Amino acid sequence: MINENVIKQLKDYADINNVPIMLDDGMDFLLDYIKKNNVKRILEIGAAIGYSAIMMCTVGQDITVTTIERDEKRYLEAVKNIKKVGLQDRITLIYQNALDVELDEEYDLIFIDAAKAQSRKFFEKFEKNLVPGGTIITDNMGFHGLVEKDPESIESRNLRQLVRKIKEYIIFLQDNPRYETRFLDVGDGIAVSKHIYE
Ligand code: SAH
Ligand code: MG
Repeated sequence: MINENVIKQLKDYADINNVPIMLDDGMDFLLDYIKKNNVKRILEIGAAIGYSAIMMCTVGQDITVTTIERDEKRYLEAVKNIKKVGLQDRITLIYQNALDVELDEEYDLIFIDAAKAQSRKFFEKFEKNLVPGGTIITDNMGFHGLVEKDPESIESRNLRQLVRKIKEYIIFLQDNPRYETRFLDVGDGIAVSKHIYE
């Protein structure tokens, strides 16, 4: 079992260093989903310091996570944290831009928690690695209420673009006939897209 104090340390580190780790209610939802749906093999886009990968492993001894991080400082912190909790045999950490990573394995769950504007790219790139009937969960859908706004009312050009991208992604998910997507108001908003058997 993982020491509660270590988890607390990871959260404190994230807090102090502005690392956007998953919020508690989102985390609770994710862990519950993994348990109830018998998820064993997980691919995560956006490891940050390894917090969510470590948490997902706490659901069961037979869970494995492959996770990708492009930021060197966070990657190094994740390496250290994963060693600290002794999960180096169950968590495979890849230091690279996820858009350049090629994987052959299949996963029961793909958790997208990286650059918000690129969620659709990650979805389209990695859905070939999803087992039939598997699930793709995307974090950061709500963007703290901004998505509800009319993009034209947002002054910053970058923010406007970002909100547009997220809106486009929501429509892409809603209109995707191969997945059934639910949007949940937990954390910063989560999309749960379950692949439909053909
Ligand atoms: N899942 C983590 C939080 C991830 S924060 C947790 O809850 O503990 C998002 C991370 O995605 C950041 O560390 C950022 O560096 C990384 N990221 C963003 N775009 C990426 C990309 N294209 N490839 C790999 N990592 C990316
Ligand atoms: Mg997130």
